[in-house]
Amino acid sequence: MRPISAYSTALLLSSLALSACALMPNPLNQPLNRSNNPTLNAQSRSLRSVLRPDVVQIPSPNHNERPANAKINTIVLHHTAMAGDARAVARFFANPKAGASSHYIVDRDGSLVQPVADDRRSWHAGKSEFNGVGDVNNFSIGIEICNVGDSQEPYSDAQYDGIIRLVGWLVQTYQVPLNQITRHRDVAVPKGRKIDTSNNFSVERVVTGVRALLNGTYVPPAVQPPTPPPALPAYRNVLVESGQKTFEDLADIHLDNSNRWVEIQALNPGVTGLKPGQTVKIPNHAEMFFQLAR
Ligand SMILES: [Zn+2]
Repeated sequence: MRPISAYSTALLLSSLALSACALMPNPLNQPLNRSNNPTLNAQSRSLRSVLRPDVVQIPSPNHNERPANAKINTIVLHHTAMAGDARAVARFFANPKAGASSHYIVDRDGSLVQPVADDRRSWHAGKSEFNGVGDVNNFSIGIEICNVGDSQEPYSDAQYDGIIRLVGWLVQTYQVPLNQITRHRDVAVPKGRKIDTSNNFSVERVVTGVRALLNGTYVPPAVQPPTPPPALPAYRNVLVESGQKTFEDLADIHLDNSNRWVEIQALNPGVTGLKPGQTVKIPNHAEMFFQLAR
């Protein structure tokens, strides 16, 4: 566990240096005399007011370098589309065959797992565009939220609390504008390729909580007993829509990872061609994970 990455320290220092530049003619190589500058003191305090939440590191190999000039300025929220907990999802991401990853996974009880360091480019958004800029993985932090993604499983108060504390810390550390906290479904290309986060998830609740956290007015939810894993049938039925031609298309949409098409194939033996209106079984559990983990 690292309290703060080298990359974020550099950003923080450069941000402080820029502030100092605007406020006083202080050469950048001189130590800043913060005690004589109340404005800078206040800014320094606010930059550090949200503590980094505890995270468990379960590394994934599925990442690469961010482009040299990339600055983290966007946070993309996903649902995992799995019944498994954050550790199970991290073990899935730990396999190179998953071909996907995220920087963080938020469990149903709000606890956090980190598969990829912030300064690396994790593979969570795929073909994507935000505010006219393509390849969102280059400049974003990806957060997976444990939820099967059927718009039925609720997101608990404890889970929202974990998301808000994590996003609040990221916003503070990287100076991410609040209107750049977004969802995979809003950045995926072409539009409609992704459905996460599910319809019953509120980004507004996250943004409101983060704003309160940064203002010092955040009221955490009452302590609750741990949320038990959802009791789910092995699969759910979905209807094929026009434009969805392969199991890979369905896995991309309903399991948030096109490489999980093998799970859909295993549940639908004998099905070869997909037609609009056809019913297809989509797994609620990560069969691929169990196969790959052997
Ligand atoms: Zn996603």
